[in-house]
Amino acid sequence: MSLSVTCFGTRGSIPTPGPGTIRFGGNTASLLVESEDARLVVDAGTGARTLGRHLDAMAPVDLTILLSHTHWDHIQGLPFFAPLHAAGNRIQIIGPRQTDGSLAEVLASQMAPAVFPMPLSALGARIEISEIVEARFEVPGFRIESIPLCHPGATLGFSIRGIRGGPVLTYMTDNELGAATAAVRLRFVQALRDTAVLIHDAMYFDDQTRVRAGWGHSSAVQAVELAHDAGVKRLVLFHHDPDHDDDAIERLGAEAFAAVVRLGADLDVTIAAEGRSIRC
Ligand SMILES: [Zn+2]
Ligand SMILES: [Zn+2]
Repeated sequence: MSLSVTCFGTRGSIPTPGPGTIRFGGNTASLLVESEDARLVVDAGTGARTLGRHLDAMAPVDLTILLSHTHWDHIQGLPFFAPLHAAGNRIQIIGPRQTDGSLAEVLASQMAPAVFPMPLSALGARIEISEIVEARFEVPGFRIESIPLCHPGATLGFSIRGIRGGPVLTYMTDNELGAATAAVRLRFVQALRDTAVLIHDAMYFDDQTRVRAGWGHSSAVQAVELAHDAGVKRLVLFHHDPDHDDDAIERLGAEAFAAVVRLGADLDVTIAAEGRSIRC
């Protein structure tokens, strides 16, 4: 049983359309994970709009959206996710409880009348919103293991495996490795032991991590070091900085490749690009 993941949004913080972001994309985080017989959406940044149009061609839709957390760049595409608008669709949205309200309250608040023309409750699909209460759980077609991350607010990474086994894809974004204690870092390494492909926050050049300490993100080099320590064979650099155009992201990739050589790591590094798929 194999998995594939397609990036519909790779950017962090805020969408960055324009001629300088064509190669790696300007939409914020949203991915489609597919096995032979099931589909799962992970995060719903602005990339979820295109993802929803892709899925809508296959209507009726019965699927799960896993949310890592509720910062704008991970939920802002939800109101524009076409399958949520169609009667007959059933969408389950699952994510961590937030410190300042339930997940349902936070998602409804981004569609409050002051900021959006239509409330969440007016959308046509049957929408079920639930909070993650156990570290291991199942959604239709997949087994999920959640991993608490180092990021302001309640944020989770996810290890995703097909319901009948097979390779593991792990998604860990909005994770500040520089803020992880030794115990937390060990927990990350242990959580990654079966991972074939790791999609990790790689927002910064290594020399940016000091001035951006506490912002909740990692450098590409830190992501390489974690993948190497955990024995992961394939790393995808994700959550591109809105201040980095395509050329800057290529340079960031080169910094990561140099770290692979320095460490003597058996690690393939890919830069996440909007519209591209990766097989696990
Ligand atoms: Zn983010
Ligand atoms: Zn965040």
